[in-house]
Parts: sequence; structure tokens; C-alpha cells
Amino acid sequence: MKTLVHIVGSGPAGLSAARTALDAGARICLIDDNHAPGGQIWRGGPARWTDARARDAWNLLRGHPDCTVMQDAQVIGCGGSRTLLVETGGRGVPVPFERLVLCSGSRELSLPFPGWTLPGVTGAGGLQALIKGGMPVCGRRVVIAGTGPLLLATASTALRAGAHVAAIVEHQPWSRLSAFGFGLLSRHGRKFLQAASLFAELRGIPYVTGARLVEAQGEDVLRGVVVRTGDRDIDYACDFLAAGFGLVPNTDLARALGCEIVDGAIHVDDGQRTSRADIWAAGECTGIGGVDKAVAEGRIAALDALGLPPSGRDLPLRRASHAFAALLARTFAPGASLRAMCGPETIVCRCEDVTRARLLPHRDWREAKLATRVGMGPCQGKTCGAACAFLFGWSHEDARIPIMPATARALSDFAKQGEA
Ligand SMILES: Cc1cc2nc3c(=O)[nH]c(=O)nc-3n(C[C@H](O)[C@H](O)[C@H](O)COP(=O)(O)OP(=O)(O)OC[C@H]3O[C@@H](n4cnc5c(N)ncnc54)[C@H](O)[C@@H]3O)c2cc1C
Repeated sequence: MKTLVHIVGSGPAGLSAARTALDAGARICLIDDNHAPGGQIWRGGPARWTDARARDAWNLLRGHPDCTVMQDAQVIGCGGSRTLLVETGGRGVPVPFERLVLCSGSRELSLPFPGWTLPGVTGAGGLQALIKGGMPVCGRRVVIAGTGPLLLATASTALRAGAHVAAIVEHQPWSRLSAFGFGLLSRHGRKFLQAASLFAELRGIPYVTGARLVEAQGEDVLRGVVVRTGDRDIDYACDFLAAGFGLVPNTDLARALGCEIVDGAIHVDDGQRTSRADIWAAGECTGIGGVDKAVAEGRIAALDALGLPPSGRDLPLRRASHAFAALLARTFAPGASLRAMCGPETIVCRCEDVTRARLLPHRDWREAKLATRVGMGPCQGKTCGAACAFLFGWSHEDARIPIMPATARALSDFAKQGEA
């Protein structure tokens, strides 16, 4: 009987784990909440992929007799220690597992600033996902602001879709960006070339460094943004503002399953094993580092889950991806001065309309939750939890099931089956 491995997430890490497990003769069940495989960077499904790693993996998986793919299927939690609660097609389906690889990726760190709740303001990755999903931006004016390489990737996506990118506003000073460039050149030549070709594609677009957002302006909809560099304020008229301050590992499911979290990421050892003997984790849920890290870790996790050693190439690839991750973290960690973007009357929890001033008197996340309902709306703190960690240093590591909004029908299915 072949070993069955369950994998949550069909991004680069999940596809890499799935491909490796199938190659090694296992059966796999791949579960993802999107309509098409690919996760964040390979969003949009096989027809749009240009990366051969994605195509190769999917060509093996598609129609393979030992591969079950559940798309449009969100894992909303767990029932008992070895059953995933999956909502798919509006129904609740318990999925028992013996070996589980978590490849749940990351989400954007959204930091509050005046006007961030206006229609037209999104995250940088959010705007990119909307454009890749077909939202028309042709001829529309876009400002992209925050910090990190995702700003450039988003600018490129917007530009190719016909948008007018009015400015890219990077919080880090030019000195730090130059050091990043030298770091890429000396240790990550391929990434240096990628960055150089992105810059070439974006030439002509104002690239403002050492700057931060002051406010997004507009009554019912976004009309423009104000950006501060040194003691100078610059106004940009725009229809979209994509504000990105980096990514945070998506650890909700891992926490619900009782895996140890360290520094906001799922803690793993050399074999990508979590603190639970039957659960492995790979990709951005174990730390932010991009597609190469996800692919390398996905492969090692699947091999380890099957009791197999990594090959001679696997460990150097993972080491190189971790060195890149460390360089990213050193360069683009959001600096304390970004806290100044959030004024006393700025809404921090947009589900429950809680302002910074109402949060200030409280000592921790739990006390603030009880007093203000911060983090208790539909998103269950997915956005404001990380924002409060940044603004006030509060830990928000509690996980409640369902970890995503679920239908009453699915929950009642689980209750009937005695799983919830
Ligand atoms: C919004 C956004 C946009 C990004 N755009 C780029 C880009 O353009 N270029 C770039 O280099 N990097 C981008 N990144 C970084 C990117 O995430 C990594 O480079 C790479 O995709 C990480 O691969 P992964 O497999 O770890 O995670 P992901 O690609 O994020 O895949 C994780 C998958 O797991 C699924 N999932 C998570 N939880 C559950 C659950 N409970 N139930 C079911 N499915 C679940 C997710 O929907 C997703 O499909 C982006 C990140 C984000 C958050």
C-alpha cells in the first residue's frame, strides 16, 4: 500500500512537495482554496505560467492516478488531532491525514495610515492579484508605496496591464537599497539580473526612496496620496494606491494544529519537521524568502515525510535561498518610523472600526480585544493582529476555529459528523 501524504497549499512549496512525493512513489492529496493551482507568484493557473518548475510539476500531477487535487477547498481548521476540516462546494468534509505537509504561504503585512480604508487602496500583492484576476486598470493612475521587492513586481504587473504608474515610493533609503544590490550581485547573481531587468522595464517611473505615506485622500473613493520624503511632502493624483509593507507567514492552520510558532513563523528543523511528528511545513509559512526557498523546502519536506534523505543538490539550494531570505529581512524589515503613519484617529481594526487611540491604553492583545473588540470581526485579526504586533509589540498567537469565515451549513455538517 502506497503512503498517502496530504499537502495544504498548491503554491510553489506545495507543488514542489507534491511532485517530489509522487516521484518517490507516494499517493498525495493536494488541497487549496483557490480555483487554480499556483499560489501567489504562480497565480492564474497553468495557462499563464512561464516558470518551467510550475509547468513540470503540474504536468506530472494532472490526471495522475495517485494524485487527488481539491481546489476551491479551504481548510477551516481541524477536528481532533489528525482530521482537517475542509469546506468545499458549500459543504463540510472531514479529511483524515497521517502525514501532512503545510504549505500555506504568507499574507501581506497591512499597516494602517489615514485613508487606508478608502475604496481604491489595496495591498501591493492585493492589487497584483486583482489585476492577474482580470480587474481592468488600463489607463488608470496607480501609486505603489511601502517597502520591499513586491513593490517592483506589482509595478511591472500594473504597467503590463496598461496602467499609468505615477510613482513607486520605497521606504528604505537609497544607501540600504544599494547595499542590497551589492548583496545580490555578490551572492545571488540570477536575482540580481532579475532585479536589473525589472528596473529596466520600470525606467521612467519616479522611484522615490527614503519616503513614507502620509495619507490617502478622497471622500468616497481614492483621489490621491501624500508622500513625505525628508521634510518635503509630494502629492500624487491616482485611482489606485497599492501599499505593501512586506509579508507575514500564514500560520493560522499550524497554530490550530498545535505546531510551535517561533518569531511569527512555523518552527521547523532540518527535515522541515514541525514540533508535531506527523506534520511538516515548507515555503513562506516557515519564513519569508520567495519562490526558490518555497520550492527547495517543499522538496525536502516531502522527502522527509516519506523517510527519504535529501539529494546532494537539495541542501545547497535551500541554504542559498535562506541566505537570500536573510538579506531580504535585513534590507526591508519595516522600520519603527513607519509607526508614525498611524495617527490617533486612524482605524486599525477595519472590521470593528477600532482606532489607534482606543487601543493605546491597553497592555496586550487580549485585554484590547476584550475592551474594544479589535480582531473579533470577520477577519478574526488576520489584518489588525499583525498591525498591532508592529504598532504595540503585542503577540496575537491565538488561533480559533474556524480559521477562515465558513458557512453555517459546512459547520453543521462537521457537527453532525462529530468532528467540529
Ligand atoms: C499577495 C501576495 C502576492 C505575491 N506576489 C509575488 C510576486 O509577484 N512575485 C514574487 O516573487 N513573490 C510574490 N509573493 C511572495 C510569494 O508568496 C512567494 O514567492 C511564493 O509564492 C511562496 O510560495 P508558497 O508555496 O510558500 O506560498 P503561496 O504561493 O502563498 O501558496 C500558498 C497556498 O496555500 C493556500 N492556502 C493557505 N491556507 C490555506 C487553507 N487554510 N486552506 C486551503 N488553502 C490554503 C493559499 O491560498 C495558496 O494558494 C506574493 C505574496 C503575496 C502574499
